Amino acid sequence: MRPLLTGSVAAIRALRWRSPIRPQTLSDWDPMSRVFIKKATYDPSIIRPMVTEMLDSMGPGWITSGMRVLVKPNLLQPADPDKGIVTHPLICQTVVQYLLDKGAQVQVSDSPGMGSFRKVLADTGYKAALEGLNVTLTPFERSVEVDIGEPFGRIPIAQEAMEADRVINLAKLKTHAQMYLTLGIKNMFGCIVGLRKPEWHMRAGVDRLMFARLLVQIYQAVAPAFTIVDGVLALEGQGPGRSGKPRQLGLLVGGANGHAVDKTICTLLGLDPSQLLTASLARQMGFYDGTVHVNGDIQIVDDFLFPELNSLSMGPESFNRFMRKYLLQKPVVDEKKCKLCGECWKICPAKVITHNVKGVHFDYDRCIRCYCCLEVCPYGAISAKEPLLGRIRRGLIRP
Ligand code: SF4
Ligand code: SF4
Repeated sequence: MRPLLTGSVAAIRALRWRSPIRPQTLSDWDPMSRVFIKKATYDPSIIRPMVTEMLDSMGPGWITSGMRVLVKPNLLQPADPDKGIVTHPLICQTVVQYLLDKGAQVQVSDSPGMGSFRKVLADTGYKAALEGLNVTLTPFERSVEVDIGEPFGRIPIAQEAMEADRVINLAKLKTHAQMYLTLGIKNMFGCIVGLRKPEWHMRAGVDRLMFARLLVQIYQAVAPAFTIVDGVLALEGQGPGRSGKPRQLGLLVGGANGHAVDKTICTLLGLDPSQLLTASLARQMGFYDGTVHVNGDIQIVDDFLFPELNSLSMGPESFNRFMRKYLLQKPVVDEKKCKLCGECWKICPAKVITHNVKGVHFDYDRCIRCYCCLEVCPYGAISAKEPLLGRIRRGLIRP
């Protein structure tokens, strides 16, 4: 069992990556900085050798017989894999089979944003893909308190994630209306159990920088041994839920260091990695020195559609209120698409969504702009609309 991480920031910093030594050959490279980029389709004969090469790069003995391994895909909601919202089941199946072949005890878990775990497994194709394999499929339910460092202190993280001998992080390449992209680092936020997720969204509030810090510190605490990001079918536009648009990128990216993986994906998408707050914070906090050694080809996707984002909210509450009201995007509902299913008001951490027979209503004065409602709406009925002043401001400050 891995020891529970109970120390402070200083203890977490002990996990920082080794300084790279200029390599002579690929095998000399620090495995923590190596990132694989593969061109892939969802074809088992293509995915299997790629996944095997990536995982074998960790060397013999990193998975041994009897080891307890937790596989954590992105299972945000019950959605067909062709929507680009969840990690494709073929990738999870391939990783699970690899681990079983090594004699590991394998568990696949997540804490979906909406829908029962059983429904998520059925609708995403995981149930069928993992049928017959000796794997435990269970949602995260129990938490342990883990000190992830200041300013958050002790927070509840899924017990299985902290107690597994190894965690394999299977993320999805998606846009995110609050964080720009959700990749390897953000996927570990799913280790916060159930309704505690929106609670933490609320505590981190409208301050994206604070939320990014929370994501980085959770990633460091869980410390997955390997991260694979499924960008074969990615999601662009107003992700990470049904308001986003699936986009065939044919990319499978993996490495032992989730920060290096995320940074590489930014480069592939033509985005300066400093714009991904989790990536820039990880460097500032000393968790990652920025080194990447790429195994594969970098071909820039120059027309990837990123979501509209607003400035960070900082300073006194009166200023935040002004930002929220006049500058930040607000959730709006398309009444023609809304089926009054209730997912949005159930998840809203600020409890500011009311409803009647005519539709859904938001109390914008109290809405913290966490965009959880966008994320979970199964009908893509909620989108983010920027107030006029926000649009004018961006027009003024952008070239
Ligand atoms: S806006 Fe979406 S999540 Fe909310 S009630 Fe309507 S359909 Fe359901
Ligand atoms: S209305 Fe939507 S964006 Fe506003 S606090 Fe609730 S879930 Fe978050």
